[in-house]
Amino acid sequence: MPITPVAFIWANGSLVRWDDAQVHVAAHALHYGSSVFEGIRAYAAGGRPAVFCLEPHVRRLFNSAKVYRMEIPYTHDEISEAILDTIRANKHTSCYIRPLVFRGVGGLSLDPRSCPVETFIVTIEWGRYLGEEAINEGVDVGISSWRRMAPNTFPAAAKIGGQYINSQLMAMEAAEHGYAEAVALDANGFVSEGSGENIFVVRDGAIYTPPLASSVLQGVTRRCVMVLAEESGMPVREELIPRELLYTADEIFFTGTAAEVTPIRSVDHITIGSGRRGPVTEQLQQEFFGITSGEIADRHGWLTFAV
Ligand code: PMP
Repeated sequence: MPITPVAFIWANGSLVRWDDAQVHVAAHALHYGSSVFEGIRAYAAGGRPAVFCLEPHVRRLFNSAKVYRMEIPYTHDEISEAILDTIRANKHTSCYIRPLVFRGVGGLSLDPRSCPVETFIVTIEWGRYLGEEAINEGVDVGISSWRRMAPNTFPAAAKIGGQYINSQLMAMEAAEHGYAEAVALDANGFVSEGSGENIFVVRDGAIYTPPLASSVLQGVTRRCVMVLAEESGMPVREELIPRELLYTADEIFFTGTAAEVTPIRSVDHITIGSGRRGPVTEQLQQEFFGITSGEIADRHGWLTFAV
């Protein structure tokens, strides 16, 4: 999806014009992927911009930085406020928000700690990640030949820039094969996640999702969907999922800030369930989109209004 420039970007403490948010070619992050980031959405809830799960996203940003031994030179509250300021400055009613913290210019050695830490917040206008049709009809996915990283190679629970080479390899391969998205197995061969989504399986009235030990990101949407499922009397079980359980599932769906709640209708060209969005997925979508649009009361305090 192409990016349309907006007016302002938050850059190291102040709002600057889009064109002025530049980075030098010697920045460490450009060479080695030395960054941490977040992906957050603001929805038009009742016509006003409301950030979905602001606090958990900011907390995960700081946790990613902690894992990577990077000190963010701002507090949680300052980053949260900066996100709201950027939304207001750009007059968004809905948007995608990308906080990015990276190692700047200060050397090219592999111990990056001499490099200054730079903090940016970019907001862009963004629609459905996998398309409107995907939300209603579901997507076709394939198991990737790339595995998620083993737990002793990269910290999967941290959103670190360089790790997304793995996701890029998955996404490019999936597109080459004509799939909307890829699903990776973990280092032990169990189902892990999509290139940028967590995955859920519905079978015989129960819902399953891979545990954190399957090298998954601790998705914020994953957690919300687990809460919604529990409320509707279907608690989600975090269990190891063998590949063939996908093929024989009644329903499968992705969750993610970008993908929201997206049904999966086939895996490796094998039709899942009826080949259409299933009733459990639809019910969870109704709750999710109801809350984010402001039509259903925000009973969990998931929305933070910018205006
Ligand atoms: N897994 C990966 C690898 C991701 O990049 C994302 C997107 N952040 C997710 C899962 C979903 O996480 P969230 O619901 O927090 O967006």
